[in-house]
Parts: sequence; structure tokens; C-alpha cells
Amino acid sequence: MPLVTSQEMLRAALEGRYAVGAFNANNMEQVQGIVDAAVEERSPVILQVSQGAIRYAGLDFAAAMVKSAAAEADVPVVLHLDHGTDFDQNVRCLRAGFTSLMFDGSKKPFEENIATTARVVHIAHVCGIPVEAELGCVLQSTDGVTEAEVCDAMTQPGEAKEFVERTGCDSLAVAIGSVHAMREAEAELNIELLKEIRQIIDIPLVLHGSSGVKESSEVEAIQHGIAKINVATMLNQAFTVALHKAIAADPENVDPRKFLLHSREAVKEVVRHKMRLFGSSGKITGSGYVSPTKVERSVKIGGLEA
Ligand SMILES: [Zn+2]
Repeated sequence: MPLVTSQEMLRAALEGRYAVGAFNANNMEQVQGIVDAAVEERSPVILQVSQGAIRYAGLDFAAAMVKSAAAEADVPVVLHLDHGTDFDQNVRCLRAGFTSLMFDGSKKPFEENIATTARVVHIAHVCGIPVEAELGCVLQSTDGVTEAEVCDAMTQPGEAKEFVERTGCDSLAVAIGSVHAMREAEAELNIELLKEIRQIIDIPLVLHGSSGVKESSEVEAIQHGIAKINVATMLNQAFTVALHKAIAADPENVDPRKFLLHSREAVKEVVRHKMRLFGSSGKITGSGYVSPTKVERSVKIGGLEA
């Protein structure tokens, strides 16, 4: 199907008390692994492209990969910009066909975050594209953050209400205790804070840094307004571990496809697990869409020769 926007997808998740996984992709195998899982799980899915992915693959190439995967899929797929750094980057992504944007001004002063977010929202809405914003700051584990710093950076409910009203953003990333790029799932979210925010804000809320959060805490957060959960580090881990194993098992092989096939499968299985955990599996019942151009891909090594 053609790409869809995140607007209705996240509204439906909020009302249905489940969350849509937003999975980061940097290369073809990751894109395919994610979309394959969505198709098999009958789940809506958001593929998101970070600044690093854009630097790695190029903006148009990254967008084209996701569009191609979506075109063959019979479940709805969103192409989302993850942590858009500035106004110009959002404009470029709008032009490249993204169906969901993000401006992350969380490290900027409050008024500056509001002003730029509102500008992005204005141009995006002209084109019917929704915008995620961030208030409070989800920190990076690579910066060696302390617990006190994580607490200091959390979203303030009063500010969040004012922020949403003044910017018109469609969804809001909140800082409630998670940290980006954690390799172990050990953080607990501040559910009380989330409840406070939820009471005064009715748009879908977004959880970043989920790879470092206990799964029980994620599930609880979904019951209190988290409708989009970003997953990145965990997918990179699965991809790379599978690659190491495949190379170790067959060091003489020089055909990269025979290794990357395992990475694609590993990504798919993590995504499948998360879709079931988030409750998005099974939400898409028979779209009736049949791709006119789809050619089945080989998923086994035996089908790769030549
Ligand atoms: Zn993030």
C-alpha cells in the first residue's frame, strides 16, 4: 500500500490502548525485516529514519527503501523522521515524502522549542502531515548520565500542556525515565508522572529509549497514554549479533547475502516480539490490498544462488 500518515494510526492506538512500534532502520535488511514482521503479525508499523541513518544512506535513498517496502505490504506503513534537528531538515523530509515528522527542540530553551515546533507544524499541516515534538529531554546513555540528571530532564506536566496548546503538535515525546541507547532493559518509567501528563493532554504520547526499559514498565505505560514506542538499539544489537554468529559459522563464505539473511531474520523476530508486547499484532484485518509488482524474496540460503 502507499505510505499512510501517523495521525489516524496513533489515534487508533490511543483509543485501543495499544502502542505502535516505531522501528529505526538504516539499511535494506532492517527495512525488510521490520515490514516482514508487520505483514506476518497483521500490525500497523512506523519505520523511522534518524539523522545518522540519513547521513549513512542518504535522505532520498532511505525514503525510497521504506516506500518500496510499504508498496509491497498489505498493512499500513508510516515513514517517520526521528529527531529532526531543525526546521530545514523537516522541510527536506516533507519534500522527500515522509508521512510523519519530528522536530526535537528538547535541548533548546522552552520558548525557542515552541517557536520552531510551531513553524514545523504549520508547514507540515499544510501538506496534511502530522508532527511529533519533544519536551523534557530523553538523555543519551553514552553521555554517562546519572539518575539525578534523568529526573531533572523529565517532562513537566504544566509546561507540556502549554507546549501542546501553543504548538499544535500531533504527538508528544515525553521524558519519564528512559534513556537513549541503553543495552540492558533495566529502567523503570515514572508512571505517576505519565498519569499526570495524560490527565491534561489528550494527544498520543511517545516513548523514546525503550531498549533500556523493563517490558513490564512499557506495558503499564501503554495503559496510560503511550501510543508510539521507539525501538532502535535493540534492533541494531539483534542485527549485529546475528551477523557475528553467521560469519563465525561459515568463515570461508564470501557472499554477503548468506550472512545478512540471518540479520534480517533476527530483526524480524525482535520486531515480532515487540508488536505482540505492545498489543499492535492482529489490529489489521484483511486490507484486501494485493501488490501488483511483488516478487517473493528468498528467505532461505538455498534460494540465493547466482
Ligand atoms: Zn529518541
